[in-house]
Amino acid sequence: MFETLSDRLSGVFDKLRGRGALAEADVRAAMREVRIALLEADVALPVVREFVEKATEQAVGQNVLKSVTPGQQVVKIVNDALVEMLGSDQVDLELDVAPPAVVMMVGLQGSGKTTTTAKIAKRLTERGRKRVMMASLDVNRPAAQEQLATLGTQTSVATLPIVEGQQPVDIARRALQAAKLQGFDVVMLDTAGRLHVDQALMDEMKALADISKPQEILLVVDALTGQDAVNVAKNFSDQVPLTGVVLTRMDGDARGGAALSMRAVTGKPIKFVGTGEKLDAIELFHPGRVAGRILGMGDVVSLVERAAETIKEDEAEALAAKMAKGQFDLNDLRSQLAQMQRMGGLSGLAAMLPGVKQVKNAMANGQADDKVLVRMDAIISSMTMKERTKPELLNAKRKIRVAKGSGTTVQEVNKLLKMHQDMASAMKKIRKMGGLKGLGALFG
Ligand code: GDP
Repeated sequence: MFETLSDRLSGVFDKLRGRGALAEADVRAAMREVRIALLEADVALPVVREFVEKATEQAVGQNVLKSVTPGQQVVKIVNDALVEMLGSDQVDLELDVAPPAVVMMVGLQGSGKTTTTAKIAKRLTERGRKRVMMASLDVNRPAAQEQLATLGTQTSVATLPIVEGQQPVDIARRALQAAKLQGFDVVMLDTAGRLHVDQALMDEMKALADISKPQEILLVVDALTGQDAVNVAKNFSDQVPLTGVVLTRMDGDARGGAALSMRAVTGKPIKFVGTGEKLDAIELFHPGRVAGRILGMGDVVSLVERAAETIKEDEAEALAAKMAKGQFDLNDLRSQLAQMQRMGGLSGLAAMLPGVKQVKNAMANGQADDKVLVRMDAIISSMTMKERTKPELLNAKRKIRVAKGSGTTVQEVNKLLKMHQDMASAMKKIRKMGGLKGLGALFG
């Protein structure tokens, strides 16, 4: 869908191989591509300008390290600058006060505010072992209070009983009092949203913040709204003392540019990202991962982490030993294919391992990922054990047999063998570069 930044940059830098320091003209040429990549990732224009200026300053004159290409070096500089601008580390909620601590959630209607309130309450309850109470202060939208009560039941988090006709400020007071009396550690206030920012909304937020003195005021923003989100963030942050931002719908097509804009506009850390409709689909914000996503370098870090989670340790060790000896055979490929299915199919892995993309393209023909995996599995199943451990045995005649047996074509068999070869040699490279940490180097 998007051309990745590394693709773009390799064009610019093909001409530059072997030069010492990064010259200003070269860096500027590269930054034009960075600029386009950022705009495509939905970063707001003024933020793009500021960022590119900063990154250019950092890049000009830097020596190109021996082991990398100038393109890789620039990607690295841009990546580091992005991480820095996104906030170099994860920031959790700060709720160490005499209870009850108050967390106030603000944002537009439909941003995911109510869902996020329940997600955070669940997280605080389960991980933080806090006693949490939620209260909806939304008296505008019909059934908003009931929605939160339902979420409370689903997450086993207490909600403030609803009193018909009560106004937001009074509900907030009642929530604080109830929490104090009943010994809750945290009160989460889900405030009303509007379709657009207006002064009445801001005044309500200010009044609520005044009386409830929250430790945290989190602005909830839909990452998919891109450019629009910037105006929303600016309005809220000018008038309400925010402590952080939550970006929702990061599971969608959002390329994460909103994160950079939010951080730049509010000056406040992004504390969480929402990654789905389910009530545990919330994560701490990882600047490094989002930087990778914005740059389109494939979300290597999280993929590797997910891989580490999925692959059982003993399997991993056995595989590592084989890799070290250069013995990654078709049986191993087969168990890898099964792993892939658990890790979200070929698309996820295509971004990570060389060779997979071509095979996927060649075999997919519009078919879903899992079908391709099934076909690959069928091909390997049709081989003898000997062939699986020694693929070089597969001459033309044997390939025809395998293709027939698996209901595929010789061409597909060849593609699979080529993929296996590419993966095996990639793995050798990874070993040489010092394990999975070296993986990133393959994607420059
Ligand atoms: P509010 O009006 O801001 O309170 O929004 P809601 O919490 O009612 O959420 C609106 C819709 O967005 C609901 O259908 C949620 O399930 C959905 N939603 C919220 N957060 C996320 C997220 O991180 N990812 C996805 N895919 N959907 C979300």
